[in-house]
Amino acid sequence: MKKTDVIIIGAGPVGLFAVHQLGIKGLKAVLIDNLDKAGGQCIELYPDKPIYDIPAVPECTGKELTDRLLEQIKPFDTKIYLNERVEEVKPDKDNWIVKTSNNNEFIAPNIIIAGGVGSFEPRKLSIKNTEKFEEKSIFYAVRNKENFKNKNISIFGGGDSALDWSLELSKFSKITLIHRRNEFRGAQHTLNEIKKLEKGGKISIKTPFQLENIDGDDKIKSISIKDDNGSVERIPTDLVLSFFGLVMKLGPIAEWGLNMDKKTISVNPNNFETNKKGIFAVGDICSYPGKLKLILSGFHEVALASVECFKRARPNEKYRFEFTTSSKTIQNRLGKK
Ligand SMILES: Cc1cc2nc3c(=O)[nH]c(=O)nc-3n(C[C@H](O)[C@H](O)[C@H](O)COP(=O)(O)OP(=O)(O)OC[C@H]3O[C@@H](n4cnc5c(N)ncnc54)[C@H](O)[C@@H]3O)c2cc1C
Repeated sequence: MKKTDVIIIGAGPVGLFAVHQLGIKGLKAVLIDNLDKAGGQCIELYPDKPIYDIPAVPECTGKELTDRLLEQIKPFDTKIYLNERVEEVKPDKDNWIVKTSNNNEFIAPNIIIAGGVGSFEPRKLSIKNTEKFEEKSIFYAVRNKENFKNKNISIFGGGDSALDWSLELSKFSKITLIHRRNEFRGAQHTLNEIKKLEKGGKISIKTPFQLENIDGDDKIKSISIKDDNGSVERIPTDLVLSFFGLVMKLGPIAEWGLNMDKKTISVNPNNFETNKKGIFAVGDICSYPGKLKLILSGFHEVALASVECFKRARPNEKYRFEFTTSSKTIQNRLGKK
């Protein structure tokens, strides 16, 4: 079990800035996120869109903001656990124990929930009985390329993920790329490459087709796809990769005994503590009178929550308010001379 001062659930912009606010107070943290990268909504929903209301930054994209936040927390050398969903939160005397979907366990006196609108999860295939194949022959992400070598792979989707992985995996497997529309949303230059490979017989493109059925008991043997006119084709398939985008699910957060207000967590706006001592909620997931779902509001919320975290993590020390411009202690923590 890993011990730390604060467990932060969610590596969106607010979770990332929490690391900074805790770090300058001398507190250690770990960050856990279900996504495969840090940045939350900024990186997943609008990486290229400009944001105009970050104080003192007239314009920056979702990706640029994420990169800057990551740069700002570098001095604290904080471990970010990605592709892990926090499943369980339980008390242990004055501490909290957190368990993730990868069976990692953490213990700390404080938890900061910066879970946004919930964890981003892949939109699943809509036909029945696909669960038994999940993570064996149906996948919603490629975590280890080795498992996708020398196979017949049917890839579903029309966006960049479907196109990029079709191209990449065609280097060592036979790919059928299936999309329900004739037009793809992904990058044109990737599609051009794929069309070249189609001519060489490395990739087969099937549009407008949708998944109709999966044949196989333990393993998939083939799939059937159907076009708009109702004609069905059978495709020999070992593995299915599906990229139908992400949905946001509040998921297990709703089961931790916290006072909820619709799909948000009620907090005390003095310190952003929930109804459980030592569990804080900040950013889009928290609610209090006048709450604005803005990044700058989340930044303010973590500044206050981190003070309360300090009091719980260092009960024998007095918290001293300091400016970064004048505090030598903070500057040392930031690695400044
Ligand atoms: C299109 C668009 C444009 C926007 N433009 C602006 C703007 O101009 N200015 C502005 O201020 N705001 C803007 N916003 C809103 C802004 O993006 C959000 O306020 C901000 O992302 C909230 O940050 P957060 O860290 O609280 O949550 P999020 O960014 O939602 O991040 C939460 C993270 O928590 C993770 N998570 C949740 N539950 C779990 C769990 N159980 N285990 C592990 N991980 C979990 C999620 O995977 C996610 O990565 C915009 C939003 C959208 C969609």
